[in-house]
Amino acid sequence: MNINKSIAFFQEAQKLFPGGVNSPVRAFRAVGGQPLFIERGEGAYLFDVDGNRFIDYVLSWGSLITGHAHPTVIEAIQQAATKGTSYGAPSPLEIDLAKSIMDFLPNIEMIRFVNSGTEATMSALRLARAYTKRDKIIKFDGCYHGHADMLLVQAGSGVATLGLPDSPGVPATVAADTLVANFNDLDSVEALFKKYPGQIAGIIVEPVAGNMGVVPPQTGFLEGLRKLTTEYGAVLIFDEVMTGFRVHRGGAQTLYNIKPDLTTLGKVIGGGLPVGAYGGKKEIMQMVAPLGPMYQAGTLSGNPLAMSAGIAALSLIREEECWRKLEQAAAKLEAGVLSAAQHAGVPIQQTRVGTMFTTFFSETKPTDWNTVKVANKIRFGKFFQKMLENGVYLAPSQFEAGFISTMHTDDVIEKTIGAGTEVFRTW
Ligand SMILES: *Cc1c(COP(=O)(O)O)cnc(C)c1O
Repeated sequence: MNINKSIAFFQEAQKLFPGGVNSPVRAFRAVGGQPLFIERGEGAYLFDVDGNRFIDYVLSWGSLITGHAHPTVIEAIQQAATKGTSYGAPSPLEIDLAKSIMDFLPNIEMIRFVNSGTEATMSALRLARAYTKRDKIIKFDGCYHGHADMLLVQAGSGVATLGLPDSPGVPATVAADTLVANFNDLDSVEALFKKYPGQIAGIIVEPVAGNMGVVPPQTGFLEGLRKLTTEYGAVLIFDEVMTGFRVHRGGAQTLYNIKPDLTTLGKVIGGGLPVGAYGGKKEIMQMVAPLGPMYQAGTLSGNPLAMSAGIAALSLIREEECWRKLEQAAAKLEAGVLSAAQHAGVPIQQTRVGTMFTTFFSETKPTDWNTVKVANKIRFGKFFQKMLENGVYLAPSQFEAGFISTMHTDDVIEKTIGAGTEVFRTW
């Protein structure tokens, strides 16, 4: 595969941006080689600057549920642009997108738009603290909620209690209020509530973990979180920035029938433009300024281009029929990859919920970060590179989710399975 132009661009980019990129995983460091520079996207396909074409399973990290450059979304953006790109004042578009989101996620009674998932989660946590008048929060090892200081924390070695900063620059004092529990382990959560009585403002969780690779919740886990937070007077935050409009038409909260107090959203709701949102119970959302005292603002929040793209994207995935097709396509891909690996005798764990999936090169069933991290990164790197050579663009890390879109038709899925079969045949 000729990637000469990408090589030249990457050399130039490395002089301009740390690591040559504007978000770390894009640099391909977890899989070797170097990133491809993209010229355009169309439907299920990405085209790089050297003219190579790939079936895309990253889809802007899950954002593009209707694929690249869907005509309906593009037209909505073009129409909106002719009317001005930002008002800094309310517009009816915000009402339209809010109502559309509430139609998918009826637990959201009131909502606030922001510009990214990171902003959504950090604001939701501030709100949970304001509402409960408590400082500590619980997150789960291996779950990612954006790069806000207090969320860049993982369990220290040994007992998972006091968080240690996961990045230099995160003050230890901030990290100290972030408690870390194990995903799918209710005892680890209850132990924290017992240890810090009356101090825990809330729990933030990816209801289907996606940022350590896809790890589904085990039966009873989310119910248990709902029960514990209710019992201890803490706020339950479902971070559905990835899972909303991905694992089910109504997000993980509908799929598993759990009512979180607050929900954070991003990715799909922007239709490929930068949007985030947090919302939930009116009683809690009333705390947000200017209705209440919890301050949170944004120069470009509710941006008309972004609102228009989101409205258009959601209008395309409203019908149940669309979700039946997405489920079918994803299930077909899952079965195809699994069967190709089995024929070749390569041990993998294929996880999937709705349109999100991960192929773990592992003999251990992934249920939390401890069982995920044993996956073989060298094997994944080899798989990634061979798939790329065969025209399939996967997320460049063992610990990321893959995504399909409505443009991943039977034909596209079959081509992908063909590529996978070829990769495993010559493993
Ligand atoms: C992507 C993601 C975020 C962060 O969103 P950004 O728009 O990248 O800031 C937060 N939470 C989850 C679960 C995500 O997948």
